[in-house]
Amino acid sequence: MDFAAARRQMVKTQLIDRGIEDARVLSAFAEVPRHEFVPPEQILDAYADWPLPVGLGQTISQPYVVALTIEALHLRGPERVLEIGTGSGYAAAILSHLCQAVYTIERLEPLARAARERLSRLGFKNVAVYHGDGSLGWPDAAPFAAILVSAAGPQVPRALLDQLAPGGRLIMPVGAEYGAQELVCVSKDRDGTLRREPLGGVRFVPLLGAQGFPTGRSGED
Ligand code: SAH
Repeated sequence: MDFAAARRQMVKTQLIDRGIEDARVLSAFAEVPRHEFVPPEQILDAYADWPLPVGLGQTISQPYVVALTIEALHLRGPERVLEIGTGSGYAAAILSHLCQAVYTIERLEPLARAARERLSRLGFKNVAVYHGDGSLGWPDAAPFAAILVSAAGPQVPRALLDQLAPGGRLIMPVGAEYGAQELVCVSKDRDGTLRREPLGGVRFVPLLGAQGFPTGRSGED
């Protein structure tokens, strides 16, 4: 399988043809080897136009959805970015091309460990992976110029709004745990005023935690 050709095709048909325009975002997708982020049994579908399972009931999002959310952060290069929901580490790897430093949090320890090892093996040096409840953010490293939440919550966690820098942008799916969700962009003005803008309907796995959906129910973990 020619992964480089599959990746070029993905960028053209799934991203450019659907309206992703930011040249830096497109070149990050052209660079990052997505096939390194999927389980071996999914490798032939690594560049396909749908989400894929990555173990423990979690998924690596469809390439277009990763591009849509990351483009909406409006990154220029000098930012420190917080991501909640590391999963495979793929979105963190894309982010690492677009900003100065990425702080990513995953609540499932085996996924956090695997992503940390993968990102280090592939040479992504500006990504820190933390195992914990990302609904509380990463207070020690705050504030962040951009925050990407890669899992859907009932509302935007207060802790994340507090950790967003003035002038910053937060992108997160909000809605029902297993139903309708909307991608929202919250921007914080220089004076701290928050503005909220809807970006369309989406479907993400739930954000579970203190400021997400409740954990510890039967059938989970
Ligand atoms: N960005 C990932 C896909 C994320 S799927 C990628 O590129 O592969 C959503 C992830 O969020 C899952 O791995 C899930 O375990 C994690 N998650 C859910 N609730 C969380 C929380 N409170 N803190 C951190 N991670 C959480």
